[in-house]
Amino acid sequence: MKSLILKLGVVLFALSIIVSPITAAAKEEPTVSVSKVTAVAEDEIIINIDISNNPGIQAMSFTVSYDPAAVTYVKTTRGGLSDYMFANHSEDGYVSFVNCESTNISYNGTIFSITFTVNQDVAPGEYAFKIQNINPQKNGDSLKGCFANKEHTPINPIIKNGSVTIGETCANSGHKFSSWQETLKPSCEEKGAKTRSCTREYCGHTELEEIAAVGHDFADEWTIDKTATAESQGIMSRHCKSCSATKDETYFDLEISEENNFENVQDQIVPPESWDVLEEIIEEEKREEAAKEEEQKASSDNKSSDSDFFSTRNIIIICICATALALISAIIIFSIIKKGKKK
Ligand SMILES: [Zn+2]
Ligand SMILES: [Zn+2]
Repeated sequence: MKSLILKLGVVLFALSIIVSPITAAAKEEPTVSVSKVTAVAEDEIIINIDISNNPGIQAMSFTVSYDPAAVTYVKTTRGGLSDYMFANHSEDGYVSFVNCESTNISYNGTIFSITFTVNQDVAPGEYAFKIQNINPQKNGDSLKGCFANKEHTPINPIIKNGSVTIGETCANSGHKFSSWQETLKPSCEEKGAKTRSCTREYCGHTELEEIAAVGHDFADEWTIDKTATAESQGIMSRHCKSCSATKDETYFDLEISEENNFENVQDQIVPPESWDVLEEIIEEEKREEAAKEEEQKASSDNKSSDSDFFSTRNIIIICICATALALISAIIIFSIIKKGKKK
């Protein structure tokens, strides 16, 4: 038991030796951090530049870069220091900052804040705000000499850059639709309708689309619609499986049903053995109909040519006759006038 307590004590002691420098180091390291925010188009965002674990700094000079395609600079606001100089460079996308105090200042908190508006047409994604050298074009991310105390001992704070994550909106990413909902079921002949809506609460955009008519689904089998009698023909047809439409209406004589052994009863289905015979009847009817149509067309063509009073040939004849008549009338009038003058 004693040895177990001893062992535990040794382990705890060893752990404290390992852990304490880490926590102490993390506490002591000066850090400059930039806000990470989320936004959508046209939002106003405030980006804070904060300092922590400040060991005592007299002068700072650096820039905060931004993407002018994503955000537009509005203003810079001072934090807890006393001596500030700012300049915004919209075209190159950075704000430069210079501070020089009379002595070392151990201030922890917001050094300054920059207000931006998120551009309207910005694509969704993450856009960085980076702390860079006071001359970013020349020195980039190197911050050597950007933080100084009055003793001139080098200060290299940990830099935690920030960003704005711009979310998807209908304006920058299009609508986010729910699945289509059928609002009107299409039938064999009538179109249906479906709708879908944008799921973003603020949007309310809805789309409506037609659904094409499904068309009839006719059965192969034949159904007797009217029974044949000795006096009149019966009618049979193929019925749509979904609605009351029929096709291939065919007249049949009583003998047909007798010869082919199918029951001549209303709504009775004709057995498949007789379908070939019915197909033949239909073909025959179609041929007769086509011939009849041909005949009608021919006779109507003849009629139209006969009755076409205003054909080109007739117009020419009429014109010639009218001219001749006008000429004769002129001659007669002329001779009457002439006779009148002689008297
Ligand atoms: Zn939308
Ligand atoms: Zn139908």
